[in-house]
Amino acid sequence: MNNKQELPKSTDVLVVGAGPAGMTLAISLKQLGVDCVVIDQLPSAPDDTRAAFVQPRTLEYLRRLHVSDPMIDDGLKGRGFAMADREHDLIRVPYDTVDSPYPFLLIIGQWQTQRHLDQRFAELGGSVLRGVRLLNLVPEFPGSAATVVDSDGALRVINARFVAGCDGLHSRVRDQLGIGFPGSSPAQMFAVADVKLPGWPADRVEPAFTLSPHGMLIGSPLPGDDMARVVASAPPGTPAPTQHDVNDLIQTRGPSWMRNRKVEEVLSSATWHVHERVATQFQHGNTFLLGDAAHTHSPAGGQGMNTGIQDAANLAWKLHNVLCLGAPESLLDSYDAERRPNAQKLIEFTHQITTVATITGHKEQQMRDDILAAVSRVAGVIEALALRFSQITIGYGDSNEPFAPGTRVNPDTINADELTWSLLTPDAAPSDLPAEFKVTVSNGVSHPVAVRPDGIVASTELVHQLFGFDPAASLAPAVCGGAR
Ligand SMILES: Cc1cc2nc3c(=O)[nH]c(=O)nc-3n(C[C@H](O)[C@H](O)[C@H](O)COP(=O)(O)OP(=O)(O)OC[C@H]3O[C@@H](n4cnc5c(N)ncnc54)[C@H](O)[C@@H]3O)c2cc1C
Repeated sequence: MNNKQELPKSTDVLVVGAGPAGMTLAISLKQLGVDCVVIDQLPSAPDDTRAAFVQPRTLEYLRRLHVSDPMIDDGLKGRGFAMADREHDLIRVPYDTVDSPYPFLLIIGQWQTQRHLDQRFAELGGSVLRGVRLLNLVPEFPGSAATVVDSDGALRVINARFVAGCDGLHSRVRDQLGIGFPGSSPAQMFAVADVKLPGWPADRVEPAFTLSPHGMLIGSPLPGDDMARVVASAPPGTPAPTQHDVNDLIQTRGPSWMRNRKVEEVLSSATWHVHERVATQFQHGNTFLLGDAAHTHSPAGGQGMNTGIQDAANLAWKLHNVLCLGAPESLLDSYDAERRPNAQKLIEFTHQITTVATITGHKEQQMRDDILAAVSRVAGVIEALALRFSQITIGYGDSNEPFAPGTRVNPDTINADELTWSLLTPDAAPSDLPAEFKVTVSNGVSHPVAVRPDGIVASTELVHQLFGFDPAASLAPAVCGGAR
């Protein structure tokens, strides 16, 4: 039997890179019926843990792809996160006040997340073309010609109407387009180890940042018997930590409840440099950058993979509307306009967390710890932090009022289980409602609200432009008179 994979000659969307960002985009497109091809240079999906924390907002989108439930079954429902010094908790931030169907931090290895994404793509009939590396991209009206090297080393060309560069930190797509990736690469390193560490306390299922005089240590349980993740700030040149090193880090930096536990085995360990960079453009003509190709930052706060998945959520429905529903291509410009400012804010945020966590000097550290402990007692601070870390408040509008254009809607409010547009209305469905909309009648709104497939309220102008439909005008006059 010939197992050689056939490379297609053309596609509507070429997705370069089958990491979490690329696979989320590919599943979304496939589910929406958009033709796409996914290539990845690796012969098989990576089996490293890397991103271990999946935020509620990510689960809200992955639910529309039918991936959240199986991931939750495989992961650990983390309470939130905590910051401590060596002896006391300074601040504990549970997610249980977050207004989401998923008020917890899902702890699950990236390899498991990837496996769920791969399985869903396969269920939809997709298959990743592995061992296929993008070499170069040239404009070829009305798209691009992508030259790739296949698993036999042969050069092939795939013509693509649109290209999604989901090819990670050292993105070839970004380089081919000559897009800048300014920012900094601090000398600071981090060491990470996934270990067997029996006896994790049942009331501490959360990543705990311990701020010790010797540096920062993050400890978190992982799914699997006695599995845990240990991350520590480390000086430049530090090698991957051994079992002895991890035990030493726990003894010198860990909180009291961790110090009486011993690492029995190191299953994987590595060190890495933090880069803090945002691409100068997320779009260049028909080509887009998503995930680490577009932005990279400190993993403190567990935001990176989550942000790449949200990039894909933002772009997928726009490509669908343009390719299948006749929307103007200018719709795609909003991808950069919405996602790039979000990435810039995120980098500032993760930079602040890393700076606070890695402050040196005894007096400065003491002052930081006192401030954190005091801040945690201010009403509303814990809830605000939970909203920020969980990514629930990320939106693209000027107003935070519920149901204002650009704000996120709780998926339960609109029964969002698919990648459809939604109309949330106090009245029955209007007769001229486009078929793409799913209706939820609710007295929680005073006027009809259109919600995009990524869970964001669409402006009336956008809905009119895309569908020739005016949600506000669709309401029965008697109710409308009262509402407007
Ligand atoms: C130790 C560590 C811990 C982390 N913890 C967290 C966390 O808790 N939460 C969080 O949100 N994030 C975390 N991150 C960050 C997270 O791992 C990344 O943000 C995430 O993997 C980025 O996903 P991506 O799909 O953009 O890129 P990647 O996962 O890097 O995938 C890119 C893919 O593109 C492929 N590729 C590259 N070049 C080519 C080419 N020329 N042709 C074809 N294919 C190509 C690669 O083989 C790869 O499969 C962590 C990172 C590290 C290092």
